[in-house]
Amino acid sequence: METFEELELKEEVLKALKDLGFEKPTPIQAKTIPHLLTSENDLVALAQTGTGKTAAFSLPIINQVDSNAKNVQAFILSPTRELCLQIAEDIKDFTKYSKKIKTTAVYGGANIDSQIRQLKAGSHIVVGTPGRVCDLIRRKRLDLSHIQWVILDEADEMLSMGFKDELDFILEQTPQEKQTLLFSATMPKDIARIAKKYMNTPEEIAVGEKNSGAKNVSHVYYLVQSRDKYQALKRIADINPNIYSIVFCRTRRETKEIADKLITDGYNADALHGDLSQAQRDVVMHRLRSKHLQILVATDVAARGIDVDDLTHVINYSLPDQMEAYIHRSGRTGRAGKKGTSIAIIHSREKNRIRILEKKIGKSFEKGEVPNGKEICNIRLMNIIDNLQNVEVDEKNMEEFMPAIYEKLDNISKEDIIKNFVAVEFNRILRYYRNAPDLNLATSKDQRQKRRGEIEYTRFHINLGSKTNLNPQRLMGLINEHPSIRKIAIGQIEIFKKFSFFDTDSEYKEKIIQALNGSDFEGITIAVEPVKSPPKTSDKKYHKKRRGSGSQRASKGRERNSRDKFKKKPRNRY
Ligand code: ADP
Ligand code: MG
Repeated sequence: METFEELELKEEVLKALKDLGFEKPTPIQAKTIPHLLTSENDLVALAQTGTGKTAAFSLPIINQVDSNAKNVQAFILSPTRELCLQIAEDIKDFTKYSKKIKTTAVYGGANIDSQIRQLKAGSHIVVGTPGRVCDLIRRKRLDLSHIQWVILDEADEMLSMGFKDELDFILEQTPQEKQTLLFSATMPKDIARIAKKYMNTPEEIAVGEKNSGAKNVSHVYYLVQSRDKYQALKRIADINPNIYSIVFCRTRRETKEIADKLITDGYNADALHGDLSQAQRDVVMHRLRSKHLQILVATDVAARGIDVDDLTHVINYSLPDQMEAYIHRSGRTGRAGKKGTSIAIIHSREKNRIRILEKKIGKSFEKGEVPNGKEICNIRLMNIIDNLQNVEVDEKNMEEFMPAIYEKLDNISKEDIIKNFVAVEFNRILRYYRNAPDLNLATSKDQRQKRRGEIEYTRFHINLGSKTNLNPQRLMGLINEHPSIRKIAIGQIEIFKKFSFFDTDSEYKEKIIQALNGSDFEGITIAVEPVKSPPKTSDKKYHKKRRGSGSQRASKGRERNSRDKFKKKPRNRY
């Protein structure tokens, strides 16, 4: 097995790597480091997220920087501030024993004067974000005219973020004679175009399958109705009590909305998006890294390049517009040899997107079943018991309070004490999930029939039809708005000229008869009666047309009913 020593890195670099616990180079490092130490050719390096690309370009550069010279020798362009800071931190770690090598990070949202001061004091390696770098060049505070290396990290993202003009401008400031390195997890067409435009017949080093997802990540999708997506997210969080996750949304607005809802519902969540001030972003990132935050809701751009180990789940609350982004998202988990799960919560029209993704990542998705209330209750209950078993008891400080507590509990049996302690935590969950509906969208015909079969319908004949101004909507109004029979399931509706049929939940058969029979509809006395078999009619054309619109509306009616149920739920988590 290849070692860092064999790569012929300097003693002080090796020592720093040892401190970091890097035992051997990752595959992309093993391939790129020798190239960068010996060749001046441009390089395109492709490897999945989390494979150690930062060290792959930093180590050989650190090894070759002339720390006695005053000028900037290596310039690393990064699409986001977070990534920029991370790279600078990494390089500082790698140069821990190469004291003379100075690295400066320049990025927007922070005081430019202090960055200028640092540059003035002399920097060999500069890491920057596009906007700030352009600004510094224009102010003549950053001179890239003598650099030897330009590294474009996460170059694909740079383009998708619309930094093309900045990229053009920045690269114009660099000398002809330089080595350009492009690092990316994916190779979309635009990257090939950059390589062609800005690079000199670059060599290409790719590790693993290009465009493929990380190895330790399993992919799961949950198929639900659009309006149930948030509920599904909550259940996923609930069934994983120790979840540590990034939830990706498509827009800032959605990000804010979902984070707000989660916070209101009692989850340990927060949002990261472009509308936050830098200070706010720092606070959020710090909480995430220190694991004080369990769920980070973020946009792709804001979470780009963030390197947080141990994330258990990446959740695609909305699939990204660009499929490449899915690879970046899912690469946030399953790092450093750990297992991770990438979840997509989708609605029925997105199923084909899952097929496309499967092709792209070369792996198949598993279809997940949104857990039902009972499953969640079970898991949470066991979690409470586990916590109870493993809680650290501060014997010394509790000692003085215990006699009073024992005395108070003297008359209660051990079983009851256990029950009560658990109930304190568990009541809310139990109440919330007791009658929780199944959120899984049926896929096969079979399942759909089974689902429909959950409600048994009775068919009624009613003496009103299109001639007497009845339409499905008005019929549903008649049923739904009647004080004694509101909100029952309505099945198929068929309107004919002089009469109609409708199906409703059999449980309410008597109520329907009582409520409707004899009441008035535009001067006509209503007569309803249950019928046995589905009606036969010779008026086929009419029948077909009406059935279509009838059942469509009827199902909308059901939707409205269940939505009303949601509205009634308490705003907090359980
Ligand atoms: P990428 O840029 O490919 O997404 P990073 O450079 O951010 O990946 O590295 C991912 C993680 O792997 C970081 O935590 C980094 O410290 C760690 N790492 C990198 N190289 C090694 C190595 N040779 N041995 C152990 N850990 C490493
Ligand atoms: Mg990286």
